[in-house]
Amino acid sequence: MSAQSGSGSRRRQTDADFVLDTRSLGRAPGSIRQVHRVVTASGKIGLDLIAIPAGAEIDLDLTLQAVSEGVLVTGSVSAPIEGECSRCLESFTDDLELEITELFAYPDSATEQTTEEDEIYRLVDDMIDIEPVITDAVGLELPLQPLCEPDCAGLCPECGVRMAIAGPDHTHEILDPRWAGLAKFASETPGTGVSDAPSDVDRSLADRHGSASSTTEEK
Ligand SMILES: [Zn+2]
Ligand SMILES: [Zn+2]
Repeated sequence: MSAQSGSGSRRRQTDADFVLDTRSLGRAPGSIRQVHRVVTASGKIGLDLIAIPAGAEIDLDLTLQAVSEGVLVTGSVSAPIEGECSRCLESFTDDLELEITELFAYPDSATEQTTEEDEIYRLVDDMIDIEPVITDAVGLELPLQPLCEPDCAGLCPECGVRMAIAGPDHTHEILDPRWAGLAKFASETPGTGVSDAPSDVDRSLADRHGSASSTTEEK
């Protein structure tokens, strides 16, 4: 963990973590520098249900290119992500890889002069802070309703068991409400032979719930 954690407002001026020093790049248009760096996320980056967790290692593979108006940063960002399935509520992990392309304007450039503060990123003391770029890109890339699997079957609408555990044969005997009274009557009437049916359903349900909860507890 770096000493910079939790001091988002403080200007960072060392070539470390998310801050890239452009002084060795120079300002001659076309000048290029490669940056390959692994940084640690000081906090969670992403959305409520899915994000790069705090402490995760983010792999930056970037190219800095001097252009007339500033420094163009392109390249890939990859990191592990943790999510919670919006359908079955199970937590899952995955890997995120995204491409970024972002211009950081020189302080005195025409681009800098003609754009609003929040329209374009700027170099500050020849430093580029890539963290807000990554935060924005990750937020746009991640799904609002993440799924553990593209075809996640979700939860049984009747009993709430995860369908992935319950299996494709999982069904419930839905009694027609008009027959429910009759079934009750039959079960209370000795000798009809119908009395076993509802309790069988109850027992198999209990089994399924039992296996579902024991599997859930593994995590
Ligand atoms: Zn799921
Ligand atoms: Zn069910």
